[in-house]
Amino acid sequence: MTTLYGAIEAGGTKFVCAVGTSPNDLRETRFATTTPDETIARAIEFFRAQSRVAAIGIGSFGPIDLHRDSPTYGYITTTPKPGWRNTDLVGAIRRALDVPVAFETDVNAAALGEHRWGAARGLDTFIYLTIGTGIGGGGLVSGKLMHGLIHPEMGHIRLPHDLTRDPFPGACPFHGDCLEGLASGPALEKRWGARAETLPADHPAWELEAHYLALALVNYICTLSPQRIILGGGVMEQAQLFPLIRREVVQLLNGYIQSPAIIEQIDTYIVPPALGARAGVLGALALVVTEDG
Ligand code: ADP
Ligand code: ZN
Repeated sequence: MTTLYGAIEAGGTKFVCAVGTSPNDLRETRFATTTPDETIARAIEFFRAQSRVAAIGIGSFGPIDLHRDSPTYGYITTTPKPGWRNTDLVGAIRRALDVPVAFETDVNAAALGEHRWGAARGLDTFIYLTIGTGIGGGGLVSGKLMHGLIHPEMGHIRLPHDLTRDPFPGACPFHGDCLEGLASGPALEKRWGARAETLPADHPAWELEAHYLALALVNYICTLSPQRIILGGGVMEQAQLFPLIRREVVQLLNGYIQSPAIIEQIDTYIVPPALGARAGVLGALALVVTEDG
């Protein structure tokens, strides 16, 4: 009998819960993220109605505590999301379902999913960024998921902000005009007065958005030397962003980084997730699946 595994993509907007072993047999459900009690109860209810799983992987929005020896290991910590500060997500799932639980950032999990089944197969150093309600980044360096002091917070880097071109002060509650403050979905909405998904493809919003994302990517390229960059999240549904970002990254690097990946193959260097909207939940699954079913 096949051993089944569980996966939870814990997002600020929605939770995706799934059972299976690979992209081929995943059974999933998704529901809105409401209060912690209600949302976690729905996740538990989903798993109780399924066949028993050997372990559950969770990829979560954050910041989260990943230090196993910390009293708040498995918690969502300083999130600005109302009601979710100091939520013991791992503990609640483990106690209710009595299974081992693996815990990661949503973006590190998505990166792992892309590494196993998607656009980062065979690579050992790459990043996965989500541009959605927030901006986050994760990935592998020399084959290992990026961890450190806490975990990377690639969305909160500082960029040049030309106030003449873009007087919008930024929307990050902690930093104002950090990358997330300038380029997240809510930043787009505040700057232009309309939800990002309603702005037409030729709106000037996208040129500016591509500019900020290109600046950010250049910083990651110069610091981490990724072999590929995967851009996911709701905002990247705007497919016209990809050529704009690629062009500006090449311009900004100005021939300095002599790699064919950038000089000749930028179209396969900056790419959407091959797993599409399932990158997050499959990544959570990849945290616990030991062999393909
Ligand atoms: P989350 O980050 O909450 O997990 P998403 O990645 O879907 O979820 O991001 C939601 C954000 O992305 C919202 O700010 C929304 O306005 C924006 N968004 C969603 N779909 C699109 C789209 N097709 N085009 C542009 N922006 C979008
Ligand atoms: Zn910030």
